[in-house]
Amino acid sequence: MGINPLVMFPKHFMLNYKNRGACKALVGNVAFYFFTVNDPESRWDEVSLQGFKSVCNMAISCLERQAREYGASLKIKYAFDSVTTNDKVGFGNWRDIINSALGKYSFKSVDEFQEFYEKKHGLDDSCIILAFNKKLRGFASVATEGYADFGECCFIGKSQALFRHTSIVHEVLHQFGAKDYYYPEPLKESAKLHIGDSVMMTAGCERIDPLTAYLVGWTDEVDMRSGYFLRVTSNYTQKDIDDAIRAEHRR
Ligand SMILES: [Zn+2]
Repeated sequence: MGINPLVMFPKHFMLNYKNRGACKALVGNVAFYFFTVNDPESRWDEVSLQGFKSVCNMAISCLERQAREYGASLKIKYAFDSVTTNDKVGFGNWRDIINSALGKYSFKSVDEFQEFYEKKHGLDDSCIILAFNKKLRGFASVATEGYADFGECCFIGKSQALFRHTSIVHEVLHQFGAKDYYYPEPLKESAKLHIGDSVMMTAGCERIDPLTAYLVGWTDEVDMRSGYFLRVTSNYTQKDIDDAIRAEHRR
């Protein structure tokens, strides 16, 4: 027996990203547009590019396989391009690098880019991923209401010396509606108990749990354990989560 979270917990913060923004559901024919970023700290050569592409293929297989296991149809195509800047890209100026990437094609916004290619290639959805050949904490710009103020995209870098396919899976799932399970600490404890391990909780974990699968559009219902997790975390607000993330980033 399943639970429909939007009926049971319509205001729950975990559902904030579901079906919102430009990337709505990770279902059907989807394209990932990767931009490899060259900045003073991130340089790409043929060898690093081939290595990164094989990690991207692993991420795509991981997503397609698990979508299939949930009974959803998902076929992911991808394209690569590069963008170069003389400025070091970080949290302060990431919008500039997106503008440079889009400017190559004369698009004014991420939404315009996505709409153009979705129509041209008959896609159900698409997303933009910026990849850095340097150590960088993954990051996703996602919309909570309507369209994001700037547009949806995500950043991928190396954790330690390697790219992990699970980091790509994690950030892409954010764009399509998934939430982290590790802010704040008490919520993480509830998730460990009721959700189990998940790509949205533990670095390096591949498992896409039933609530995440629901959030990205693979199912219409969740299992009883996910429903219980939603019940025990229903007092949290998006502000509690944002405050916890800010505190984490300050450390
Ligand atoms: Zn995350």
